[in-house]
Amino acid sequence: MRLLGVLGGMSWTSTLSYYRGLNEGVAARLGGLHSARLLLHSVDFDPVARAQHDGDWDAATAVLTAAARGLAAGGAQALLLATNTMHKVAGAVEDAAGVPLLHIADPTADALLADGHRRVGLLATRFTMEEGFYVGRLRERGLEVVVPDADDRDLVHRVIYDELVHDVVREESRAAYLEVVDRLAAAGAEAVVLGCTEIDLLLEPGDGSLPFHDTTALHVAAGVDWLCAD
Ligand code: GLU
Repeated sequence: MRLLGVLGGMSWTSTLSYYRGLNEGVAARLGGLHSARLLLHSVDFDPVARAQHDGDWDAATAVLTAAARGLAAGGAQALLLATNTMHKVAGAVEDAAGVPLLHIADPTADALLADGHRRVGLLATRFTMEEGFYVGRLRERGLEVVVPDADDRDLVHRVIYDELVHDVVREESRAAYLEVVDRLAAAGAEAVVLGCTEIDLLLEPGDGSLPFHDTTALHVAAGVDWLCAD
C-alpha cells in the first residue's frame, strides 16, 4: 500500500474523524486486517489559528510547509491537508513537500456535480467563505456558490472556533446552523457544502432542509481511493 501523509491537528477533533475514516475505508475496501498506511503530523493548532486571525498567513504557512517537508522526508508519497481553511496555502504546502496534495475541494466538486447540483450553499470558516481560494475552485468547476450573509457567517465561524474545535457540541448551535441552512435554501441553494472539517460533529446527513456534502467524508474517501490504488 502507498504511504499517505496527513497534516492534521487543525483541529484535532476533525483529525480524529480523518484517522477513523481512512482506516475504516481501507478495511472496508481491502478486508481482513488491512488498515491505512499513514504518517500523521498533528500540529499545535493555537499558533496556526492565531496567525489566521491576525492575517499572518506567512506564519501559518511556515508551520505547514515545515511539517509537509518532514512528512515527505519520512516517505509520504502524497499529502492530505485535513482542513479546508488551510487550503488557502495548499500550493505552498505542495511545493514544499514535492509530492502531490489531494485537494479537498476536488472530491467535493465531483460529488456535487455527480448529484446534479449547480447552485450550492457553503458553511465554513469566514476565511473559506469570504476569500477566493476555495469558492473560486468550486466556481472553476461550473458551480455557483451561495454564502450566508455577514451575521450568519459570524455565527458559523464562531461556533467552529469557540465550540467544535474544542469538541463542544451544543444543541442550540445545531438549531442555529439549521436555520442558516434554511436561509441558504431560500436563496436558491440546492445543497450545502459542509466546508469545515469539524461540522460533521454538529450536523448529520438528513438533518436539514437541503442535502449536505461533508468535505471530511469526501476528502477521506479520496484518501482511501489513493491509498488503495495500484
Ligand atoms: N478545520 C476547519 C476547516 O476545515 C477549521 C480549522 C482551521 O482553521 O484549519 O476549515
